Amino acid sequence: MASEVLKLTAQIVMSHASMSELSPKELVEEIKDIYSILSSLEGEISLVEAAPDPEQGKEAAVVKKPSIPLEDIVKEKYVVCLECGKKMRTLKAHLRKAHKLTPAEYYRQYGLDPKKFPLVCKEYSEQRRKLAKEKGLGERGFRRKAKT
Ligand SMILES: [Zn+2]
Repeated sequence: MASEVLKLTAQIVMSHASMSELSPKELVEEIKDIYSILSSLEGEISLVEAAPDPEQGKEAAVVKKPSIPLEDIVKEKYVVCLECGKKMRTLKAHLRKAHKLTPAEYYRQYGLDPKKFPLVCKEYSEQRRKLAKEKGLGERGFRRKAKT
């Protein structure tokens, strides 16, 4: 843990030193200051978050925690958008328009399994399956469901 703080301290001091002229003494003082601030911050944070992501500065890669229970997001009549909580029959167009997200980005952002969490409600995927069947396409490309 301490080495992580040291690394961060060095990064901050270095970037600061490159912008302003610090004497060696000022530099040492700054290192001490930043180190103690970071250490105390880390103490507080580690109480809240059990396992923080060691990768820093990569916001896109951070998995967000959905505010809605995952078992509630894919329902018979609707799917819930984890970004804004809206309920819709299908999310794909909404994600693109409202949040500028592709389905792949959406899944990555929340660490979701696309197989378990489709972007359409259950009724809709069932209709699509039936429609495809009527058109004579069979069930190719659609997952077969055990229950009817
Ligand atoms: Zn949304």
